[in-house]
Amino acid sequence: MKIIIFGAGQAGYTAARRLKQNMPEAEVLIFDHDACGLYAKMRLPDYVAGKVAREKLILASGDAMRSQGIEPHLGENIERIDPAGKEIFTSAGEAYSYDILILASGAKAFVPPVKGVENVDVFTLRTMEDADRIIDRSRIVKDALVIGGGLLGLEAAWALRERGLDVTVVEFMDRLLPRQLDETESAILLEKLGGTGLHFRLGISAVNVEKGISPDSVKVTFSDGSSMDTGLLLFSAGIRSQIHPAADCGLKVNKAIIVDHRFRTSLPDIYAIGDCAEIDGRTWGLWIAAKDQGEALGDILSGKRDSFESPVYTPSLKISGVQLKDICREAAEKKQ
Ligand SMILES: Cc1cc2nc3c(=O)[nH]c(=O)nc-3n(C[C@H](O)[C@H](O)[C@H](O)COP(=O)(O)OP(=O)(O)OC[C@H]3O[C@@H](n4cnc5c(N)ncnc54)[C@H](O)[C@@H]3O)c2cc1C
Repeated sequence: MKIIIFGAGQAGYTAARRLKQNMPEAEVLIFDHDACGLYAKMRLPDYVAGKVAREKLILASGDAMRSQGIEPHLGENIERIDPAGKEIFTSAGEAYSYDILILASGAKAFVPPVKGVENVDVFTLRTMEDADRIIDRSRIVKDALVIGGGLLGLEAAWALRERGLDVTVVEFMDRLLPRQLDETESAILLEKLGGTGLHFRLGISAVNVEKGISPDSVKVTFSDGSSMDTGLLLFSAGIRSQIHPAADCGLKVNKAIIVDHRFRTSLPDIYAIGDCAEIDGRTWGLWIAAKDQGEALGDILSGKRDSFESPVYTPSLKISGVQLKDICREAAEKKQ
């Protein structure tokens, strides 16, 4: 059996490994346009902060995959899928046939369509390449503006702060982490983060961006009419599942590729897992969820398991000294 996996992130690599463990005779090919192999995305903020070396992030290089019997095609982009002919086509102009195709193409950072955004240098933090760009820019500027006060925005802001930049976080909602915390909890979090030297502007959004006063700066105008110049403008406004080119071949998609509890898409012999997949209308966007799904699909395809029921996962905030569970406990005591 020949299995092609599209994406060597946590979901795709975990599935590849589990398949080779369960079915050593299966041919497993994994494709990723990123040449690094699997790396710890959740540690990218630490890398930006200068707390961990680049090579320490790599969890499975091409050589490691090869030693596990997986055939890596790193640095190769999948451009088209032909579900009728059961083939994929790469940017190198090669075609590969498959018996089973696993889509594990993850997600990309969403940059909101703020007026002027296409005319200036903006940053996101999703990949190693993004992190390298941020590090390069942070060497020549003194301040940063992070648009988005969600978990990833706060972690990125903290990483830039640890690099020594003066960092402001702008959040459209009037409090931090409204999806994870209630009002009392948000207020405690704001107080704790304020003590770290981060600045916050809540309840406003960016409405225009243009070149700033100095050659490297960007001027951002907000919904309340105020504006600021910044050396590094980083958007952390959520993620969007990477559904292309998979969606172009006729797969059923909503916000992500729709799958059932066996990770089956709407087309035969094509499965989807991780940040690009949606089960019961939900995509977790979490490392542990991608791992669980990769393992489960490996077991399902090897006949060791019937189906997958997703646990409920709790996200965490990785800022030293600030634990969400402690904040919730403190808030509960305050409310008594
Ligand atoms: C900065 C940051 C911090 C995070 N912190 C946490 C955390 O603390 N806790 C947590 O649980 N989760 C965290 N996450 C989320 C977690 O990393 C993701 O949910 C997880 O990596 C998803 O795995 P995945 O395999 O589905 O997708 P990805 O890791 O995105 O992998 C998808 C792969 O597909 C490849 N690909 C896409 N399109 C193509 C194409 N056309 N051709 C070839 N290859 C392609 C991409 O290059 C990528 O390598 C964080 C993410 C980031 C970016």
